Amino acid sequence: MLSTYLRPLLPSSSSRIDRCIMCQTRGSLRQRHAIHKDGFFAGRAFYQCAECGFAYDVLAAPTPDSFYQRNYAADRFDRSGIDFLYRTTEAVDLSMCLDNSGIAPKRVLEIGPGPGWFMESFLACNPETVYDVVELTDFGAESCRAAGAAEVHAINFEDRSAVDGLAGRYDVVVSIHCVEHLFNPMAALANMLRCLKPDGVLYVHTPNYRDDRDENWHHYKAPDHICFFSPESFARLGTLFGYKMAVAIVAYDDNDVIALLRPNPGRLWRMKRALLARSRRHPVLG
Ligand SMILES: [Zn+2]
Repeated sequence: MLSTYLRPLLPSSSSRIDRCIMCQTRGSLRQRHAIHKDGFFAGRAFYQCAECGFAYDVLAAPTPDSFYQRNYAADRFDRSGIDFLYRTTEAVDLSMCLDNSGIAPKRVLEIGPGPGWFMESFLACNPETVYDVVELTDFGAESCRAAGAAEVHAINFEDRSAVDGLAGRYDVVVSIHCVEHLFNPMAALANMLRCLKPDGVLYVHTPNYRDDRDENWHHYKAPDHICFFSPESFARLGTLFGYKMAVAIVAYDDNDVIALLRPNPGRLWRMKRALLARSRRHPVLG
């Protein structure tokens, strides 16, 4: 049930975690070490569940609010960089995949758009779409408004009651390189699914974790990246949420994974095929 995951996560340090926050299995957590190229992870451990493969690193921040404020309050975005390039390209990819699959994105919600680069590109492809965003930073919210966002919500997406007003409104919910930053990704993902219309589709793009990643894999960057999914753990997620949900996985250059989740499998596999075909054309992304 989604409601299982819509409760606050209490632990504020890894020492207090006794079960996997995804599959809830007790005693399944295995400690792993990683060293980021910049040294952020040196001497630190994160946990991977032996049961479902989900990997998680809880930091010693007093509260998620203070963590987000400390790490995401400033404008660190660079329009000339790879982040801008892949987001604008990916919006074209998703637009074409939705079109190929016969899914009309009348109303779209994006969680964590930053300056709104994906949105801007998506709206250029779909001028009729009403596009809302959930963005906590002032600079991001301002930039999204200027780029065409209809509604800008500064709400904590891990909080069930804060998201109630958005439930059941959207044809497509998008989250790109966002869930790996969250303290309680399960609550955020459950809330994203709550926001979908009955035939809506959730599109989640995040780093693709594997056991054999190099110690200096560029996505090992604490404290920015807290949790890591894989195709296997995403597939497990569909089952765990208790939906008749289909999950499709595609990857950009193997470093990232994209999950597509719907309440029913209709058109999902067409979307997956279309995304795979698109991603092969520009494998440098991600
Ligand atoms: Zn697990």
